[in-house]
This record gives sequence, structure tokens and C-alpha cells, in this order.
Amino acid sequence: MLYDAHIHCGLGQPFSVKKPDSQELKDGLRQMFENYLALGIGSLRDGGDKWGVGLVAKEIAREFPIHFKSPIHGIYKSGCYGEFLGQSVDNANEACQLIEELYRKKADFIKIILTGIMSFDDFGKTDPAQFNLAELRKMIDRAHDLGLQTMIHANTPSAIKIAVEAGADTIEHGYSIDDAALELLAQSQSIWVPTLAPFANIAACPDHHAMAIYRSVSEKYFEGHQRAVKKAVDLGVKIALGSDSGATLVPHGQGTLDEFRFCQLCGLSEEKLMETGRLLFA
Ligand SMILES: [Zn+2]
Repeated sequence: MLYDAHIHCGLGQPFSVKKPDSQELKDGLRQMFENYLALGIGSLRDGGDKWGVGLVAKEIAREFPIHFKSPIHGIYKSGCYGEFLGQSVDNANEACQLIEELYRKKADFIKIILTGIMSFDDFGKTDPAQFNLAELRKMIDRAHDLGLQTMIHANTPSAIKIAVEAGADTIEHGYSIDDAALELLAQSQSIWVPTLAPFANIAACPDHHAMAIYRSVSEKYFEGHQRAVKKAVDLGVKIALGSDSGATLVPHGQGTLDEFRFCQLCGLSEEKLMETGRLLFA
């Protein structure tokens, strides 16, 4: 059975996710888990959303022979990127309180959003880091004290460096990574989840799709990222399969299969991916 270390069960769904108690949501999540299992995908790590769909999904997942983990909500800094992915905080102290609250709600790990997504208009750019090294370290330490791993959304070399040095268990996306950050990753215990599918799928979208205007910039991101992942494989970086399913043009189920293919194109064998997956779903 394959796994997917980065999906959003509350995004890209054919049903409304705004009412956690609705029958529509529960039935929709049942359908989602059935689809994943039918495709041979038996372990899923959610990336959180503002509605906390992961909390309902954790309950529903018990009905299935599936391993599902969720941070419930991601944590981001007020006024910065991440509004649809979680709950905001003003500073690291508030973040630590939210981490404790999520722990009490039985979150399986903590998701922290450190940067925005890569710019479609300004290639290679994203927003500056939302937390500095000391702040992020404090948040990660708090999570670790509670026995929770941390999933850090970070793009650009400087933010990736902060995340690795702060002790991130996984680094999500990692676009624009450079050689120094790859070396740092290789020497660390952090696992990289490069999420190749979103830009790859935008780059290949049909003419009539609203995202077609971003095909060429997405192609550039995808190509650069493939080169980086290949280098990471050679350096021995631990890499996990994570599709970002639920994101634009990454449908649940098929997105995982797409990501698996992109990882294989970068030289990652199924065995290697499964080896890293076991660290995340132990
Ligand atoms: Zn995501």
C-alpha cells in the first residue's frame, strides 16, 4: 500500500466542508477514504485547514483499514499566508498555547506555516518567514515536549534553513531550495516532502483552464524542483511522497499517483519512499 504524507482533506472536495457536523461532510469523507483505498493508498497525512475537517476525518477514518493523521488546523501568523489552512497567532507564545489546545483535541502532529506559496508573477519569490529561528524553535520544542512531530511549510533557502535548524520533523514543499540548504537537509534528521504535483499539474493543464496562464512559470518551478529532488536523492536526503492533494489541479487519489510518478522520475524508488514513509506512519 502506498501512502501520501501531504493531503488536505478539507480542500478540493466535491462537498461543502464548512459544517463539521453535516451528513454530507461525513459521507463525502467516507467516499474519499474508499477512493484512496481502492487506489492502493492506505496511509494519509493531512495538512490541515481552517474548518478543522481533519477532526471529523479522524473519526470517520476509524471505519476503514486506513492510517490517517491530522494536525486539525495549521498555525500561521496573523496577517500572513495561511488563512484557509488553519488558525492564526500573533506570536510564538500564542502559538505554544494553540499547540497545547491542538494536543488536547488529539491532533496527531503540529503543522506550522513558515512562508507563503511561490509567486506565479515573480519567479522564485515568496513572502518572508512568518517566524524567526528562536520563535520557530520554541514552537517546535513545545510540540516535541508533548510528543508531537512537526510539519513545517517552508519555501526558499533561508526559510528552509530556519526550519531545519529549529528541528522540523518534516519540511513541506521546499521550493527554490539551493545546494547549501540541500546539504543542511542531508545532514539533518528532517524529512523533505517536496510536493511536485501542484506545479507539474498546472504546467500540464488544458488551454481552457483558468490556471493555463501560469503554465510556463509552473513548468519552470517543476523543472527546477525536479533537479533539486534528484540532487537530494544523490545526497541521501530522506524524502517522502506527499502530493498536496486538495490543492488546485491535484485531485484526491489521482494526485497521490501523480506524485508517485514524479518522485520515480527523480530517481526515487518505491522502496526508498516506503522506507521514509514508515518513519511518518510508525
Ligand atoms: Zn499543503
